[in-house]
Amino acid sequence: AAKEKEKANLHNALSEVSHVVLVLSGKGGVGKSTVSTQVAQSLSSRGYSVGLLDVTFVDRVSQEWQGARREVHQSQSGWTPVYANPNLAVMSISFLLEEGDAAVVWRGPRKNGLIKQFLTETDWGVGGLDYLIIDTPPGTSDEHISIVQYLNDARSSGQGASGAIVVTTPEEVSLADVRKELNFCKKTSVPVLGVIENMSGLQTRVSDMRFMNDESNDCTSDVLSLLKEKCPEVLNMMAITDVFPSAGTGPEGMANKFGVPYLGKLPLDPNLLKSCEDGVSFVDQYPSSPGTAPLNNIVDKLIL
Ligand code: ADP
Repeated sequence: AAKEKEKANLHNALSEVSHVVLVLSGKGGVGKSTVSTQVAQSLSSRGYSVGLLDVTFVDRVSQEWQGARREVHQSQSGWTPVYANPNLAVMSISFLLEEGDAAVVWRGPRKNGLIKQFLTETDWGVGGLDYLIIDTPPGTSDEHISIVQYLNDARSSGQGASGAIVVTTPEEVSLADVRKELNFCKKTSVPVLGVIENMSGLQTRVSDMRFMNDESNDCTSDVLSLLKEKCPEVLNMMAITDVFPSAGTGPEGMANKFGVPYLGKLPLDPNLLKSCEDGVSFVDQYPSSPGTAPLNNIVDKLIL
């Protein structure tokens, strides 16, 4: 009976959510949260009402979430999220963790319990959500299986999660784990919306670079003055360096092999970091950056 009640609660909680999108990655630190956040920012800036649910158990922000004070209240209608902007409600397990509260404290069943609670008891507000973006822990743990099961149970009439975005870096260690992720999606019938290749090269404007001479001394001002004098147009050019050696055919080849869409390359870009920190949409702020392509691709897919 408790299980039926739980199912009914979840069904209720998600009945006013049009699309549930999972963001997955094989390993940590590849940019899954960055992508989750920016997809949420983009959709919200296009006028959709968006929820971002972070169930990664990473205490990434001490006091603030991208400009929004973390103040989570529990009221009769459930947990009240933090609003990053009027269209973007954020709920994060890290809001509940005390400063320095190690993730180790939360193990298997307790983690699952908390995730379930977050899925059922977050009050996304009147009118529900067009999109719920779920930032999941890295890998394919019990937590993922539970999340997908809850979603499938709750939406027995519908389709469970609407889809998954898979984030990887180009190198083999990340790709190996992503294959597991793609197999997981296959097994659990979660459609893969696409693979984003993150940290694909480091991109910076020449004028923002720092230069070192042979003795490892900073000679930035000398170099910049020289450039300014001799070839000022170079200062505005973008310099791109490959950081990770691409393994084999890389993420694109892997996506093709699995028959899932490849969404493109997102370089390491200080402006992306800045947009995340400022709590704004990167594609709106820096529309000409190459990194906007995969983000726009995924948003286009979602709003179709
Ligand atoms: P994950 O969620 O996979 O653990 P994060 O999104 O937290 O990874 O990213 C790890 C770190 O790398 C963060 O500090 C994030 O700001 C930074 N980062 C990720 N992708 C990029 C990028 N394309 N450009 C610049 N910084 C990035």
